[in-house]
Amino acid sequence: MNAPLKIAMPAEAAAAPKAYRLLIDGKHVDARDGRTIARNSPGHGFTVSHYAQAGAAEVEAAVQAAHKAFETGRWPRMKAAERAAILLKAADLIEGRLEEIARLDTLESGKPIAQARGEIGGAVDIWRYAASLARTLHGESYANLGDAMLGVVLREPIGVVSIITPWNFPFLIVSQKLPFALAAGCTAVVKPSEMTSASTFVLGDILMQAGLPPGVVNILAGFGADVGAPMVSHPLVEMVSFTGSTRVGKMTMASAAQSLKKVSMELGGKNGQVVFPDADLEAAADAAVFGGFFNAGECCNAGSRLIVHEAIADDFLSAVKALTARVTVGDPLDDQTKVGAMISSDHLKKVAGYVSAAEGDGSQVYSGGKQLASNVGQYLDPTIIRDVTEEMAIAREEVFGPVLSVLTFESIEKALHIANDTPYGLAAGVWSASIDTCMSVARGVRSGTVWVNTFMEGYPELPFGDYKQSGLGRELGKRAVEDYTEEKTIQFHRGQRTGWWVG
Ligand code: NAD
Repeated sequence: MNAPLKIAMPAEAAAAPKAYRLLIDGKHVDARDGRTIARNSPGHGFTVSHYAQAGAAEVEAAVQAAHKAFETGRWPRMKAAERAAILLKAADLIEGRLEEIARLDTLESGKPIAQARGEIGGAVDIWRYAASLARTLHGESYANLGDAMLGVVLREPIGVVSIITPWNFPFLIVSQKLPFALAAGCTAVVKPSEMTSASTFVLGDILMQAGLPPGVVNILAGFGADVGAPMVSHPLVEMVSFTGSTRVGKMTMASAAQSLKKVSMELGGKNGQVVFPDADLEAAADAAVFGGFFNAGECCNAGSRLIVHEAIADDFLSAVKALTARVTVGDPLDDQTKVGAMISSDHLKKVAGYVSAAEGDGSQVYSGGKQLASNVGQYLDPTIIRDVTEEMAIAREEVFGPVLSVLTFESIEKALHIANDTPYGLAAGVWSASIDTCMSVARGVRSGTVWVNTFMEGYPELPFGDYKQSGLGRELGKRAVEDYTEEKTIQFHRGQRTGWWVG
């Protein structure tokens, strides 16, 4: 029995919780009915923040402000170079407040601080990349339609975009959407998760400071049914960019369909890493641990299934187990921590329920599997489950916790079958020294990303998105700005028209 984790109380615990007000039309406002949401730190147990809690009236005001800013404001009409300058300024300001933002995300989500710093640094890079795309966005021209005709295809901003984000990467995910919508000239209403809204409010302040006109970005804290749902159904919203669970994504899409809104959906995942005997097994073992336990497994692209060749399964798993024992779990604010707190005690119970159901189904808890005793907060031991078979819930459903399920294969066909045998299609990994093997798996897997001899790397230049029930559309990459545009075809006729219809 390990000694209970000792979580030290940070200075913030002794201070009053920070209060965040809604951002509507460039002003900070309270909810009309005065309601607030308190967020307790999952790692440290004290109240970190209070957010003004929006409802239907605030959604209406925010959408109207975004609509006005789009219809009559400067933002969609200014030169792309001016928009890019504001996005670049915002990137610099984010960088200047990196430590503060990382600390907020850590305190509200329980993620390790070193990791949070990496996420905010990554977000800075994305804001800069989006600024570059603002300036290169362009349409098409067709001078090949005969001497009298010039066809021009414009890319115009789509309008008001509702952006809804989850709790697991609070600042990073809003940064995968908002800068591209802004680069295109759109205006937005943003709703972060009700559990991790603080850093998005800081982003709102940064954008105002960078020179964004009022009403272009409006930020609402609140719950899905009260705030997210009307943000999706509102008739003045033209597009919904949603990241969250497949369950809520389906509801969101059904609602958006009523007014034929464009949707972009980044949803759940159940991703496999396939390991062949000829791989660099030391690197693969490290990636298996990273893929399974990074962000406490609360990660859409977690490598939650380890699909390992029978011939090496025992030795490889003991290497993975030995590395897992060295993963530091504990205080999210400790620089050395690799796995922090679970987002909520309810979520921890749900994950623990998957582990006991897997045991009941005949699999074996090979490592971990228990909540860790601690003076405060909720922490789960990184868990490896072996002897998992394809039909078990632990092999098919998104667990969203630090739980690695191990399945074995004897042929490449079987490995591919296992990798594809889920409703999800977000990401996969393959480890082998053979280019033939890697290419066979990379081509055969039905997922939006495949990592070959690496795992969970990300670059703004590379599109990120999903097959099957993991979502719709792509974020990042050079076409990310185009997603927030409509195409308009204009036909210019020169000279007198001939070929009358009536004559
Ligand atoms: P969630 O679906 O519960 O909530 C996501 C957001 O939707 C929150 O802001 C929530 O308040 C809002 N919401 C809830 N009900 C709503 C409704 N009826 N209408 C509109 N909005 C509503 O997801 P979560 O628990 O916050 O996040 C975890 C999920 O997100 C996991 O399934 C994970 O895989 C997924 N995720 C996917 C990606 C990706 O890129 N594919 C990235 C991160 C997280």
